[in-house]
Amino acid sequence: DDALLDVSGLSVGFEGFDGYADVVGDVDLHVERGEVVTIVGETGCGKSVTTKAITGLLDEPPAHVEGDVEFDGMDLRELSEAEREDLNGDRLGMVSQNPLSSLNPVFTVGEQLTDTAQFGGSDDAGLLSYLRRRHSGSERAAARERVLEMLREVQMPDPEAVIDSYPSELSGGMRQRALIAQALLNEPDLLIADEPGSALDVTVHDRILSLLTDVIAERDMSVLMITHNLGVARQISDRIYIMYGGRIVESAPTEEIFTEARHPYTQGLIASIPRLSGEPMAGGIDGSVPEYTDPPSGCRFHPRCPYADDDCRSAAPPRTDFGEEAHAVCVRHVDGGPTPTIAETKRR
Ligand code: SF4
Ligand code: MG
Repeated sequence: DDALLDVSGLSVGFEGFDGYADVVGDVDLHVERGEVVTIVGETGCGKSVTTKAITGLLDEPPAHVEGDVEFDGMDLRELSEAEREDLNGDRLGMVSQNPLSSLNPVFTVGEQLTDTAQFGGSDDAGLLSYLRRRHSGSERAAARERVLEMLREVQMPDPEAVIDSYPSELSGGMRQRALIAQALLNEPDLLIADEPGSALDVTVHDRILSLLTDVIAERDMSVLMITHNLGVARQISDRIYIMYGGRIVESAPTEEIFTEARHPYTQGLIASIPRLSGEPMAGGIDGSVPEYTDPPSGCRFHPRCPYADDDCRSAAPPRTDFGEEAHAVCVRHVDGGPTPTIAETKRR
């Protein structure tokens, strides 16, 4: 298998005051070269935790991570901290959902991005090397020019002024653009984006998404994006994973998710997109995401599922594959069982 990113058997738990929280389990996912993949699920479904575990941000207690994460044949979980930092910001670009905490307030945008352009990661080690070499001349001028170009590409207003501004002097949308520019500076092979723009108001969010769609289309870059918005996933991705209660419950090529949604949760998500169903929230899903310290038995979706029966409550449902690219984790598909339709879901 020559997937660029290949994750198997990933599980993440946290030791806490309320006991052990089993937040993510049995996650298998892959991103092929040049492929744009999204993980879709509600807030609290474990998608941020999944990407953080993939990028090595959860390698310390109280988090407990298990499973294999391979990037271009390298076992990411076996890399030293230094090797990992070389990779992050260079071959692996990250855009987080919080543009406030992701930029260092004491350095200008230009200082931070030039640092990334020259030394890879935006971590403190990179900043230190920047401080040591800040007067190194022409190389630095070239890096600054590259940063300016990238700021123009992300449609930053007035790049020449922004490059010498501190993050606190920028709007939320401008900070998000700066982070996207930073993630793209070294033309990463894989961009991992956690709900980019979702902390901003709707108009700015939309602009950030169309910007991302453009910069992705212009590059032969692989992308793993997470979002709570199925419409966004449809706009941007080749393939979709649906996550519920820390488990991948369905995956399929993007259009197949919409024409042939197999999991009751996916059907509920689709039914709750007003533009697609024509009926605002008609088939929407009642209830909320499970507690991770005391999750529902069997299928974690059973308290919210219109089809739940005793089997669903007693044992975790099996996975059924549909060809190479699609699968669903639901008892209704065992032995080629029916694909319940969205209309059927809405009638209940
Ligand atoms: Fe619903 Fe049962 Fe399928 Fe879970 S396994 S999604 S409860 S039908
Ligand atoms: Mg999140």
